[in-house]
Amino acid sequence: MTENVERIRLVADDITRLAVDAIVNAANRSLLGGGGVDGAIHRAAGPELLAECRTLGGCETGQAKLTRGYRLPATYVIHTVGPIWQGGEQGEPALLAACYRNSLDLAVAHGVRSIAFPAISCGVYGYPLDAAARIAVREVRHFLQGDTRIAVVYLVCFGEEVRNAYQQALSLGSDAAYPG
Ligand code: ADP
Repeated sequence: MTENVERIRLVADDITRLAVDAIVNAANRSLLGGGGVDGAIHRAAGPELLAECRTLGGCETGQAKLTRGYRLPATYVIHTVGPIWQGGEQGEPALLAACYRNSLDLAVAHGVRSIAFPAISCGVYGYPLDAAARIAVREVRHFLQGDTRIAVVYLVCFGEEVRNAYQQALSLGSDAAYPG
């Protein structure tokens, strides 16, 4: 438990500035760029990122695909597609959980030891922040419990509201967080 808490770190920064092995992009299904964090990542990585994304054939919601990071300090970008919030009855929680799990699986498969996530689906996709933060923390905790290869997972807090939501989610015990 203690070890897990230390391996999950909140960081208030622009994700494109982080010198980690992989940053996660909250992409859309086309993988051809968009607004929010996706736009910021493409701007910072340069046009080579879009060129590689064009070869990937898009990505289903809940799945993840990996590219190089090009001009980013991060070695890789893991592109995952979060669910669009439609009220919560359309499988959104399971799809959001799958984004975290599939991104972490892909990271491990590429030898990633440090990875940073934005708050997937919490921007234009409209997922309620507190519920999304609980899912993010639950999935990352659960993954780290079964895996020692990833040394640190950064949850990027772009704004005070996001930080508060993660702090609240982290303060819940793992058992309390699990059914959420
Ligand atoms: P989605 O379409 O999945 O909702 P968004 O990019 O609209 O994705 O928002 C996801 C989260 O990323 C939001 O919490 C937003 O504030 C945050 N975000 C936007 N730009 C950045 C950035 N440069 N670094 C880190 N997080 C960011």
